[in-house]
Amino acid sequence: MSKVISVGIVGYGNLGRGVEAAIRQNPDMKLEAIFTRRNPESIDAGTPMVSISDIEQYKGKIDVMILCGGSAKDLPDQGPYLAQHFHTVDSFDTHALIPEYFQKVDDAAQSSGHVSVISTGWDPGLFSLNRLLAEAVLPEGKEYTFWGKGVSQGHSDAIRRVEGVRNGIQYTIPHEAAVERVRSGSNPELTTREKHLRECYVVLEDGADSEAVADEIRNMPNYFADYETIVHFVTEEVLRAEHSKMPHGGNVIRSGQTGQDNASTQLIEFSLKLDSNPEFTASVLVAYARAGYRLAQAGQKGAKTVFDVPFGLLSPKSPEQLRKELL
Ligand code: NAP
Repeated sequence: MSKVISVGIVGYGNLGRGVEAAIRQNPDMKLEAIFTRRNPESIDAGTPMVSISDIEQYKGKIDVMILCGGSAKDLPDQGPYLAQHFHTVDSFDTHALIPEYFQKVDDAAQSSGHVSVISTGWDPGLFSLNRLLAEAVLPEGKEYTFWGKGVSQGHSDAIRRVEGVRNGIQYTIPHEAAVERVRSGSNPELTTREKHLRECYVVLEDGADSEAVADEIRNMPNYFADYETIVHFVTEEVLRAEHSKMPHGGNVIRSGQTGQDNASTQLIEFSLKLDSNPEFTASVLVAYARAGYRLAQAGQKGAKTVFDVPFGLLSPKSPEQLRKELL
C-alpha cells in the first residue's frame, strides 16, 4: 500500500461524524484531528478536537481537509479560506451557486497550488456523474432526477438558520405518478412542482412568529420558492421521536432513442436507497479525498468537480488491479 493519507475534518455535525466513521473503513487513510468553531473541550469525540482558529498550525501535517460545514452559511467562507492552506474536499450542494463557489475556491486553490474537489456527495456528486454519462451515451433523450422520500440535509440546515427556528427537518417527496410516467419512456414534460413536494417540521423559539417563519421558509430562493412547501410546527419531543432518522435516496433516469428511425427506446436508471444520508455522503467525500490527494501528487492544482476526477483515482486499488478485477 502507498503512503497513508492524513486527513482532517472541518466541522463536526452529522457529516463530520459520518466522515470520522468512514475513515475507519479505509486503511490507507488516517484521521489526524477534527476542527470546530465551538470550544473543542465541549465536544466528546474519539479523535483530537482542535479549535478552527489553530488550523493553520496543521499545514504540512494534514494532506487533505474534508470540509463538513453547511452549504448555506459555512462553506462559502470556509471553502475559499481553507483552499489557501490545504488540499480540500467538500459537498457544497446549493446547485444554483456552484459556478460562483467554484470560481472563488479555484482562485484560492490556483494561487496557493492546492487541489480542492468541490460539490462531491450524491447530489451533487454521484447523481451528477450519472446525468453526464447517460446524456453522453444517449444524446437524443431526456433526463429526470427524483429525490426522496428523504431528509435533505441542505434544506434542513437552511430551515434551522431562519430566525425564530429552534430546530427543524425537511422531507423531499417525489410524486410517484411522475416517476412511473418517466419509466414508461414517454419523455413527459414535468415542472419542478409536478415532480416533488417539500414538507418541513419546525420547532419554534419561544415567542417566535409562526407566520413570519413559514413565509420566510416558503419563499427562500434556491431552496423552497419553486416548490409546493408544507410547513408543520411541532414540539421538540415530537421532532425527536418521529423525525430523528436521516434516510434519503432517489433516481436519475434518462430515456433516449437510438437506431435508424429512433425506433428503439433505451432506459438508463441509477438509484440510491440510503439509511443514512450523512454517512453515505461522508463515504463519497472520503473516496474523493483520496482522489484529490492523488491529483495533487500528480502536480495538478485548482478547484475540481466530480467531472474532472478520473474514476480510478477514487479506489485504493492500483490501475493494474482495477483492470484485472473490475473492468
Ligand atoms: P450539520 O449537522 O448542521 O453541521 C453543520 C455544521 O454545524 C458543523 O460542521 C458544525 O460546525 C456545526 N454544528 C453541528 N452540530 C452543532 C451543534 N450541536 N451546535 C452548534 N454547531 C453545530 O449539517 P450536516 O448534516 O453535517 O450537513 C452539512 C452539509 O452537507 C449540508 O449543509 C449539505 O450542504 C451537505 N450535504 C451534501 C450532500 C451531497 O450529496 N452533496 C448530501 C448531504 C449533505 P462546527 O463544528 O464548526 O461548530
